[in-house]
Amino acid sequence: MHTKISISLLLCFGMMITSCSRKNFNQTPETITQIPEGMIKKIDKTEAEWMKELGSERYNVLRQCSTEPPFTGKFVNHKAKGSYICAGCGAALFSSDSKYDSRSGWPSFFDAIDPSKIKEIRDTSYGMVRTEIKCASCNGHLGHVFNDGPAPTGLRYCVNSASLDFKPEE
Ligand code: FE
Repeated sequence: MHTKISISLLLCFGMMITSCSRKNFNQTPETITQIPEGMIKKIDKTEAEWMKELGSERYNVLRQCSTEPPFTGKFVNHKAKGSYICAGCGAALFSSDSKYDSRSGWPSFFDAIDPSKIKEIRDTSYGMVRTEIKCASCNGHLGHVFNDGPAPTGLRYCVNSASLDFKPEE
């Protein structure tokens, strides 16, 4: 009984801790989504340029793949109508219409505005097999996507608030 509970807790914690490791920036990761060349305008900056532009909190999440602690991000309980855009490059990623309360502690969406703007990468860090999500244009780390979301997609895009900015509906 205790072992079962411990394993469950460990798995839960595993979902929350740091996502991808820095290796994804240094090695060729296994990209799941195949995005046609030329479809996305790529953004290339040096790490020093990113650091200067983003500041340390956003840099750590977007460029170093760290994860903000649960229930601390500014968009966890944000309910305004509009679009969530990439904090690194401004690409429109998620609509408030697909945001839902996953109780995970991170902003969660059951769909992306345009899935081709989000790159999916197999992430085997921390002894788990997960799917990391990154902005396809600036390669910024967003979070992970899981298969335990609500209808109609069944997906849960679990995203760091630090990876996002918000554009209110006009
Ligand atoms: Fe981006």
